[in-house]
Amino acid sequence: MSLHDLLLERISQTGPLTVAEYMSDCLLHPEFGYYATRDPFGTKGDFTTAPEISQMFGELLGLSLAQVWMDQDRPDPFTLAELGPGRGTLMADLLRATAGVPGFHAAAQIVLVEASPTLRQMQNERLASVDPHWTNDIDALPKAPLFLIANEFFDALPIRQFLREASGWRERLIGAQDGVLAFGLGAAAPQPGLAHRLDDTEPGDLVELCDAARPVMTEVAERIAAHGGAALLVDYGDWRSLGDTLQAVRRHRKADPLQGPGQADLTAHVDFDALAQVAAQAGCAYTRLTPQGVFLERLGITNRAQSLAKTLSGTELQSLISAHRRLTHPEEMGNLFKVLGLYPAAKNPPPGLEA
Ligand code: SAH
Repeated sequence: MSLHDLLLERISQTGPLTVAEYMSDCLLHPEFGYYATRDPFGTKGDFTTAPEISQMFGELLGLSLAQVWMDQDRPDPFTLAELGPGRGTLMADLLRATAGVPGFHAAAQIVLVEASPTLRQMQNERLASVDPHWTNDIDALPKAPLFLIANEFFDALPIRQFLREASGWRERLIGAQDGVLAFGLGAAAPQPGLAHRLDDTEPGDLVELCDAARPVMTEVAERIAAHGGAALLVDYGDWRSLGDTLQAVRRHRKADPLQGPGQADLTAHVDFDALAQVAAQAGCAYTRLTPQGVFLERLGITNRAQSLAKTLSGTELQSLISAHRRLTHPEEMGNLFKVLGLYPAAKNPPPGLEA
C-alpha cells in the first residue's frame, strides 16, 4: 500500500480532503510521511536550506540572540528553543558561535520542537553533548524566558486554500478522478477567518490560511511577552499571502504536488502578517519584515566571510564565496526569504531587525 492508495481509499469513504489534511499526511504520516521517513536535506536529498549552505547563517542568528539575552540582563535559566531543527546544523552553529558569551550556555535549557523520529535521531547525534530536550507539543515549552529560532518551519505547516467568488469563499479540495488525486472546489460558504481579506482581494483570487501556525505563535509570543526573550523566524513568504503557493520539491526540482504523495517536500509561502497579528494579540512586539540578505548583511556576514576566507583556497574558497552569495543576493535567497523578529514590547528588537 502506498500513501496515494491510502488517500484514495479515505476519499472514497469520507469525501474530499482539504489541502491541509493532504499536506499533513504527506509530510508527517507515521508510515509514509516525507519528514517522518527520511533525511531530505543536502545535495543528495531533495532540497537544501540556509544552515546547510553555510555555517555563517547559524553563527549570525546565534550572535543576534545572545546579544538580546545580554541586553535583557542575562536571564538564568532561559529556554533556547528551535522549531523544526532538521539535521541540527543551525543549533550546532549557533552554539559554537556563542560559546564565548559568558554564562549563555550555562543558563540555556535547550528544547527542540521536532515531529520526525528520523530527524530527532540526527539531531541527537549532532547535539547530544548539550543534552537537549525534545517535544512535539508547543505547550511543553517551559514558562520561562524564551529565545527561539525557526528556519523553514512555518512553510511546512499545513495550509488551507480558498478561492474568492462573488457569492463567498470556495475551499480548494483534493478528491479522486479516474483513480488519481485531483483538485476540486467545495461549495461557497462564508469564512469568518478570512474577513480581513475582503479588503485586499477580489473575486478570482486565491488565499491561504495556516491554522496550525496560530497555537504555535500564541505559545511562543505569550512566553516572550510574560518572561522576556526573543524569536527569529526565517522563512520564504511575504506580508500576506496571495495566490496558490503550494509547492512540491523533489531532487531539487519543482514537482506536481499531487504526484507521489509523501515522496516530495510540500511547502507553502508563509503569511507573515498572520503570524505577526497572533503575536500582537498575545502581547508581543514584532519587527519589520526584513529580507534575509539585509538581515545577514547588517549582522556582518561579509566580515565573517572575509575572516573565514583567510584560511581557505581553491574550491573551498569558491564554495564560501558562492554560499555568501546564495544566502544574501536578492536574486538568490536574499529577498525571497524574510526574517520576522518577536520581542517584549518594552525592550529593543533583536540586532539586524528594526521596530
Ligand atoms: N530548520 C531546518 C529544517 C527545515 S525543514 C533547516 O533549516 O535546515 C522543516 C523541519 O520542520 C523538519 O525538521 C521537519 O521535520 C519539521 N517539522 C515539520 N512539520 C512539523 C510539525 N508539525 N511539528 C514539528 N516539526 C515539524
